[in-house]
Amino acid sequence: MAGIYIHIPFCKSKCAYCSFFSSVDQRQCSEYIDALKREALSRRTYIGDEEVHTIYFGGGTPSLLTAKQIDSILKSLKDNYNIDSEPEITLEANPDTIDRTSLKDFKEAGINRISIGIQSFFDDDLIYLCRRHNSQHALQVIDDINAIGFSKSTLDLIYGIPTLTDEKWNKNLDIFFSTGMKHLSAYALTIENNTVLGQSIAKGTAKAVNEDESIHHYEILTQRTEQQGFIHYEISNFAMPGHYSKHNSIYWTGGNYLGLGAAAHSYNGISRQWNVSNIKQYIKTAGISNSIIEKESLSLNDRYNEYVMTSLRTSFGCDTEQIRNSFGNEYASHFERLIKKHLDTGMVKKKNSTFILSNRGMLFADGIAAELFI
Ligand code: SF4
Repeated sequence: MAGIYIHIPFCKSKCAYCSFFSSVDQRQCSEYIDALKREALSRRTYIGDEEVHTIYFGGGTPSLLTAKQIDSILKSLKDNYNIDSEPEITLEANPDTIDRTSLKDFKEAGINRISIGIQSFFDDDLIYLCRRHNSQHALQVIDDINAIGFSKSTLDLIYGIPTLTDEKWNKNLDIFFSTGMKHLSAYALTIENNTVLGQSIAKGTAKAVNEDESIHHYEILTQRTEQQGFIHYEISNFAMPGHYSKHNSIYWTGGNYLGLGAAAHSYNGISRQWNVSNIKQYIKTAGISNSIIEKESLSLNDRYNEYVMTSLRTSFGCDTEQIRNSFGNEYASHFERLIKKHLDTGMVKKKNSTFILSNRGMLFADGIAAELFI
């Protein structure tokens, strides 16, 4: 099972905490779409004939595209790839860029899953983050998504925002549960120094994130989602049984994916590739020359490290039998020797040959994985 990711690097304005590759200058949008189609044509061999089960429009703000533009990109993928008859096709959307009409058009173009960036249902949190929408937009757009009938949709929330009290975080979760949505992505606010918020915090003009409050929000999140029957299947992702994101599961289980667009990443088990983070350069050369693509061939150690890092972030866990079969005894022994101490502290649970992080362990997933690397 393979997936295709399409990066749409345009936004109406820059959110204060954002470190993703995106531009507020949308003038080259249609040239960019032409370049995407050229790249789709030129990279057909990267995932071979493998059947593509998922297509994901991420950004940036992909909901700035028209349904016609989405339709033309999907047509070009169908012409060039072995696409499953019922693929999961996700569009990331921001509340201020969609309404009932555009959602209906996106559905007709083939989108069957909307990932909506709500972040909070409170205006003061949205103002702190410099989001363009307000709480009213956020509620309206959920009604619209339900009315048009995107049953597989998901919502993004952010916790650890300095303006977000425990009471408001509980209320955000109450609203989410009341929507009937079966998938939630919830992220801890992290501030990079090169963002507007990072600089404001450094100058003392914005309040910094309090780590303890953020951890407390995470604890509320894991308890309440569990009570509601959601499975915490990846550090930041929660779903009712049978409603996992198929696309993101490809990343987390070591499946192959092709990334099209500026700054998009690809992986096929042999190499990892990434495109230039420059829209002008991408438009000029995509599909014409490989100069926009950087490539890293993966050694056995790289692939073992990758497996440990991604599997430990999920509820599927890290399987020592799989390590033994894919990488050899030496790798499995190394893993078993070093993971032991985390069993004693309760950070990790063992089920047959699989090691799974506890909710608390997930908070330290990156650090634990790094200790197990070769
Ligand atoms: S909408 Fe998303 S990608 Fe665009 S600036 Fe905001 S956080 Fe970044």
